[in-house]
Amino acid sequence: MKIVRSKPELRESLAAPRRSGRRIGLVPTMGYFHEGHLSLMRAARRECDVVVVSLFVNPTQFGPGEDLDAYPRDEQRDAELAQLEGVDLLWIPTVDQMYSEGFATAVEVAGDLTGVLEGEPDHRGPDHFRGVTTVVAKLLNSVQPDAAYFGRKDAQQALVLQRMVDDLDFPVEIRAMPTIREEDGLALSSRNAYLSPDERERAVAISRGLRAAERAAAEGATSTQALVEAALKVLRQAGVEPEYVEARSADDLSTIAELNGRPVLVAVAARVGKARLIDNVLITPAPEEPSDSSQEAPL
Ligand code: AMP
Repeated sequence: MKIVRSKPELRESLAAPRRSGRRIGLVPTMGYFHEGHLSLMRAARRECDVVVVSLFVNPTQFGPGEDLDAYPRDEQRDAELAQLEGVDLLWIPTVDQMYSEGFATAVEVAGDLTGVLEGEPDHRGPDHFRGVTTVVAKLLNSVQPDAAYFGRKDAQQALVLQRMVDDLDFPVEIRAMPTIREEDGLALSSRNAYLSPDERERAVAISRGLRAAERAAAEGATSTQALVEAALKVLRQAGVEPEYVEARSADDLSTIAELNGRPVLVAVAARVGKARLIDNVLITPAPEEPSDSSQEAPL
């Protein structure tokens, strides 16, 4: 595996495979790898000839008061793990290189996709997604991959990036991959490193809450409110007060009142200790079936 830090080096390393028509896959990350990241690398390895992983803790997607400075980093361990997954190129740009003096451009997906859930002003706010879309546009332009791999753990982010790619004609396939979890259900996240053992115990309520929402749907709930309440109950019992629990259309994040066969995304954000954690589950009720035969989508 080659580690590259500059854009000229990156371009040079990709020139030959690109010329010979090899399929290039990109996995954008902020590092501190866990099985979630590694699962994306494995998918890219399966589907592409050349696997590029970018490691960049992007300052513009962190708001003031968020955890940019504390964000966990371990470049050497990351390089070892990426190498074990058969990654070809690990690209680690510097902040100065990504945002050189005079940088003045942003890519923004407007509207509800970025204004709700994480994008609500009271939550991370729309500037968060502006930071994400701008940096991912830059990563895509620098690597020019055939496919780019993202986790459904950040389901809203994947929807926003798909929108950006469609709207701006980026010639790339966006691959959204399943969420990888600990055995007890906790979604893997670099931010889990912030949790004390006690907080780690409480954090599992987030995935348990989502499972309760799934169960409610499987047991015939007809409203999204019932799903939200089922999740809230589990969270509160564990002493976790979420920033939000919302059920929205999984296609466009619009509000849905009744479960009507359309896929529903139930999304949670909650602070546990210093960690702000997010998770979600996709629920696809069986259309036009009696309510007791709703399908339970695995978390
Ligand atoms: P991050 O380094 O947290 O920005 O994440 C890089 C990529 O890994 C993003 O596309 C995330 O959605 C994805 N990811 C993070 N956690 C998980 C997980 N538990 N399962 C699957 N993908 C994940």
